[in-house]
Amino acid sequence: MRLLSFGDSQICKYAVVTVATIGCGKTTTSLALANLFPNIIGHIQNDNIRRPVGNKLVAGALEILINRPIVILDKNDHKFIERKQIFDDFDQLNEVIPTSKLKFICLNFLRNRPQEDKDLWNITRERILERGDNHQTIKAAGKGITKAEKIIQGFIKRFQPVDPGREPDSKFDLIINLDVTSPDSSYANVKTVVDNLISFASDLNLTRPTEEQFQEAFKSALDYKPSVNKI
Ligand code: GDP
Ligand code: MG
Repeated sequence: MRLLSFGDSQICKYAVVTVATIGCGKTTTSLALANLFPNIIGHIQNDNIRRPVGNKLVAGALEILINRPIVILDKNDHKFIERKQIFDDFDQLNEVIPTSKLKFICLNFLRNRPQEDKDLWNITRERILERGDNHQTIKAAGKGITKAEKIIQGFIKRFQPVDPGREPDSKFDLIINLDVTSPDSSYANVKTVVDNLISFASDLNLTRPTEEQFQEAFKSALDYKPSVNKI
């Protein structure tokens, strides 16, 4: 029998940090992953946290890690300073998990400079318009379009790509490169993440889902409607 407590435990805890802009599919991908492995992968959305958010995202993630080995922290983290804050908050708040057992995984949705990527703008803009008001804070239906476009643009403009050669990104134990190059990119991204988790988090002995299971989990992720409304 495998020990699940710490100390001499063999299992690690995995904090999965998304790096993206708006509409890249962070929430869709995270929900599909949590659907596929409900007892293993937890998911916390920055958009569900009452402002000021402060360190509540990491505090909530640590709570999830009590009962599950993997948590996805769903936030844009589009700048170095945002990623640094996540690491700093873990340093400050984590009193239970030995640092050698806490692994950080980056879901890198954007490899290149998104400022020059016309496809990214077109795909994410289209997705957000299609999503309409079905979001906690970004309302894109009707007159909301222009405001939503400005918000998307702002994130793209400020984006700082993941750079494993410098802090804070050098602190990631694994960087999983994803793509937002087609309107349906999230399905392939879910599979990429699963395959990487199977090999990197080998202590968890994850079983690869069947094609049918992937499709079902993805379909219900696409149907997601947030229960929190912050506006
Ligand atoms: P986030 O801002 O990064 O969390 O993006 P979301 O995951 O909320 O995705 C934005 C919108 O695009 C949502 O309405 C999703 O349902 C939709 N979406 C995301 N990925 C895909 C995909 O691969 N295929 C399709 N058809 N819709 C997607
Ligand atoms: Mg989201």
